[in-house]
Amino acid sequence: MSVYDNVTKQFNKAADLMKLDPDVRQILARTENEIIVNFPVKMDDGRIEMFRGYRVQHNNALGPFKGGLRYHPSVDIDEVRALATWMTWKGALTNIPFGGAKGGLQFDPCECTCNEMERITRRFTFALGNNIGPEYDIPAPDVNTNAQIMAWMVDTYVSTQPPHQRQANVHVVTGKPVESGGSVGRDKATGQGVVYTIEEWAKEKNFNLKGATYTVQGFGNVGSWAARLMKQHGSKLLAVEDASGAIFNPDGIDPDDLLDYAGKNKGLISGYPKAEPIDHKLLLETKADIFIPAALENQITAETAPLLNVKLVAEGANGPTDPDGDEILQKRGIDVIPDILCNAGGVIVSYFEWLQNKRSEFWELEEVDSKLYKKITNSYARVGQTAKKHKTDWRTAAYIVALSRLETVYKERGIFP
Ligand code: NAD
Repeated sequence: MSVYDNVTKQFNKAADLMKLDPDVRQILARTENEIIVNFPVKMDDGRIEMFRGYRVQHNNALGPFKGGLRYHPSVDIDEVRALATWMTWKGALTNIPFGGAKGGLQFDPCECTCNEMERITRRFTFALGNNIGPEYDIPAPDVNTNAQIMAWMVDTYVSTQPPHQRQANVHVVTGKPVESGGSVGRDKATGQGVVYTIEEWAKEKNFNLKGATYTVQGFGNVGSWAARLMKQHGSKLLAVEDASGAIFNPDGIDPDDLLDYAGKNKGLISGYPKAEPIDHKLLLETKADIFIPAALENQITAETAPLLNVKLVAEGANGPTDPDGDEILQKRGIDVIPDILCNAGGVIVSYFEWLQNKRSEFWELEEVDSKLYKKITNSYARVGQTAKKHKTDWRTAAYIVALSRLETVYKERGIFP
């Protein structure tokens, strides 16, 4: 099954259960716009290379299209479609005035120099042209894109605007460096949201996070922040995996120390001297309380779900569990905090950044964190109540909350003409 098939299956399950209005169902079952741009980039050795970029805009009934940009060799239109659709559900679930979009470029950033990355990003932004815009479609970081990429994007986008309108357009992307109009707390926001939802789960289960054990897949923005914030609870990180391999230490791995090491090792964890290398299967089999997948889609499947030896899967990544994997986790009594809830901290604080830009304000970290806490824990409570009411799993409940909001808006506004 493709990633988009997974989204469709999740959507159909929730739509059937809640008896979603058939007209609204038809609308939400499709993406609104799918933009493909092809553009040339001059590489450092003077060669011209052609790139293909995608931007899929799923729905903007609740507000401007919103979603990250991914640079990865596996990016294709199917994956971007799925990621765009999840963004619509995420905005609707957390009650922020954004729709859903996602974009990406299929290439391997590890094979490019910093100068090439800048030129690729600027040409991609230029090629997207007015398909993005601060009140229309607002990109953000995702896999292999970061605040620096967002700074190049905003600079390129505003350079194409008339001089007197440049400053008014800096909210065309979020996740910018703080000095270039970003928000404090955006960098850690997704990992922070993951940990806030884990805290809620722990409260509900009367489970003590102090001394609890956890494993993490993906040690980039989301995984490394989630790991470091779990450390503040006194929880113990037993195993980590990234694109370079997996490592394990039964006495615990210090995520801050590991991040320092990775910073000097091209961002990778392989070769970390204070843990032993293990293979992918052993990482999944590691006995721990919590597993935080924070890398790519389709990691927990019919083959791998039986291997997990945890109480909770907190989905930092988008789509880490496919429908077969989900069924097995449910049967095995493993709780899941679904992606559209668990990793929504990123888009919530992106919304705060967008608001600050529009109002020329700079909020303090305490304000950002407390507003994020309120939004994500309210959404958590709503999903819990909905799961009880419909006697269903948490992912389906999260979809029902999101779809109900979209259904209400479509019914109120009707269809033009
Ligand atoms: P990132 O590029 O900062 O980090 C990705 C990490 O995954 C890296 O450590 C990389 O080595 C690792 N990885 C890649 N392939 C892997 C593989 N096959 N096995 C194990 N590890 C692998 O990306 P990120 O921003 O942290 O995003 C991670 C996930 O979180 C994605 O699913 C993304 O869509 C989702 N997400 C990100 C944000 C955000 O704000 N950045 C928000 C919501 C959701």
